[in-house]
Amino acid sequence: MSSQPVYLSHPSSLDHDTGEHPERVRRIEAIDAALEARDWLGYERISSPAVEPSVLQRVHGPEHIERIAAASRVGGAQLDPDTFVSAGSYTAALHAAGGAVELVRRLMGEGPRQVGFSAHRPPGHHAVPDRAMGFCLFNSIAVAARHAIAELGLERVLILDWDVHHGNGTNDIFWDTDEVLFASIHQLPLYPGSGSAGEMGEGRGHGYTVNLPVPPRSGDEAFVSLVRDIVTPLARIYRPQLLLVSAGFDAHADDPLADCTVSDAGFGLMTELVRELGAELGAPVGCVLEGGYDVDALARCVTLTMETLAAGGASAHGGAPGLDAIPVHPLATAALDRLRPFWPGLA
Ligand SMILES: [Zn+2]
Repeated sequence: MSSQPVYLSHPSSLDHDTGEHPERVRRIEAIDAALEARDWLGYERISSPAVEPSVLQRVHGPEHIERIAAASRVGGAQLDPDTFVSAGSYTAALHAAGGAVELVRRLMGEGPRQVGFSAHRPPGHHAVPDRAMGFCLFNSIAVAARHAIAELGLERVLILDWDVHHGNGTNDIFWDTDEVLFASIHQLPLYPGSGSAGEMGEGRGHGYTVNLPVPPRSGDEAFVSLVRDIVTPLARIYRPQLLLVSAGFDAHADDPLADCTVSDAGFGLMTELVRELGAELGAPVGCVLEGGYDVDALARCVTLTMETLAAGGASAHGGAPGLDAIPVHPLATAALDRLRPFWPGLA
């Protein structure tokens, strides 16, 4: 297995012009500058292709896709109070979804890689099949997971969403299937308002949607404990063949759009847990950028996440308290009680 990690990006991310919106061009510029200063951390840089229509249509209907294309053709549109399209947005969104798909292809394909990161705008996890929403046009991580299942023959994909907002789009897209285990840690109450603990999927998917809401002011102790004490044991039972992370960094203490208090080190610890889980299960780990609106914290935390992913053993959160210093959080205890009926093997 090749050990060189992959970084997927495309200059079209800079053409999704949202002006002074929090989800702005500067986010990608800051990430790129931070990574360039670190010589890209040894990652192989790959230019993300545009997603093929047939791959995108596994999640999004042709009417929704055409609505975004048409809005870009006429120079832009406001789709809802939060969500804007500019002339370059359709192309940017095609490459954002294409980056996530290419990430999965690289992780699962010939000469498989163990870890990778796809960093694009616009983000994706709020987009539902027939509608853009919450800064998101196409649900890139969902498109990538569907591709992994439909085209690459995977039977079990884990999507961990640690963006501070509920990944309602991903939640809905995989609501009734057990082919994706969707686990989301998010602040509630907060936009979009969904993602309560009782929303657990239905039919074959009952119990495979795991919503882990946390109250405002939750920080490292809650987020890290939920990854270590809920997501990790669930994954040991589920045995995913691929681990995808909806990697938003807006749970950070400095973020202007939410009220959580995760530190840089907290993101490093969550990444370490996911990396170790992937190693234990023999499953590659791919991160797809979602939110994160304090550009300095975003650039630092993307860098730390990529550094930790690639570290494979030595942890990159230097100096900060390690995992052992974080106790089992009461929210994790409550989640275990709630999930045991669906997951009998859960300790
Ligand atoms: Zn978010």
